Amino acid sequence: MAGVPLERLCIHQVTLMQCGFAESLECLARHGVPMTAIWHEKLDEVGVAAARRVLTDTQVEPVALCVGGTMAIGDAAERASQIELTRRRIEFCADLGIESLLMLTGGLGSGETDLLAARLNALEGFDSVVPEARAAGVRLVLEPLHPMVCGFRSVISTLSAACDFLDELDADDATGVALDTYALWWDLNLPRDIRRAAPRLRHFHVSDWLAETTDLRLDRGMPGDGLINNRAIRRSVEDAGFRGPVEIEIFSKRHWWRESPDEVVSEIVQRTSDFV
Ligand code: ZN
Repeated sequence: MAGVPLERLCIHQVTLMQCGFAESLECLARHGVPMTAIWHEKLDEVGVAAARRVLTDTQVEPVALCVGGTMAIGDAAERASQIELTRRRIEFCADLGIESLLMLTGGLGSGETDLLAARLNALEGFDSVVPEARAAGVRLVLEPLHPMVCGFRSVISTLSAACDFLDELDADDATGVALDTYALWWDLNLPRDIRRAAPRLRHFHVSDWLAETTDLRLDRGMPGDGLINNRAIRRSVEDAGFRGPVEIEIFSKRHWWRESPDEVVSEIVQRTSDFV
């Protein structure tokens, strides 16, 4: 299987955390990378009007906005504010012509231990924003995360659990699922779950799990530097019918966020050709 061609490559804006909103997209454009996923903090820094100008100038296509509100967490007031945040981000997507809003459920609130209640909160939160998403033509795309971050990022830890969640939500015209190899590589049931999730699969995120990782969230590796067989997982999703972009998403506080953005993008282009 050949590596990822440049025309199918998407690099998430968060991978270039060292850059401002415009600088990151200008860098992608310089290297011929055609797609990105917008990072909410960077969008908030510049606002929708400026973001639209940069997207038009650079011609980099935004395939998703990361992320919506985390609606599992907290008391009723906190959850209501996360639902409002999600509604605002659905509007941002509609304003910028972005088809997908990436969604995490969130984990457990402070002092809470009821995982099923948190999941139910998230389900109710999703249910309450589906009408807005549907009306705006924006898809809410649920991303399961690694079980080590279950407590503080996501009570949904497998692709199968994400499918169960979406089965209950019963809104397939306005929802979908994202597979992030960093979150799911360890799961021996992944090939089977990919086949189940295939009709809902909207996004495929790639990075690597470093053997001696120092941070569960912010120490992701470049494909080829860690334990994930990204090419095998890509083969599984493509065998299941997925034809979307390969999206590189690297949170790397101690390494790649400290390098020059041009060097990072050149490295990604090479690594996705060799290892993904
Ligand atoms: Zn991801």
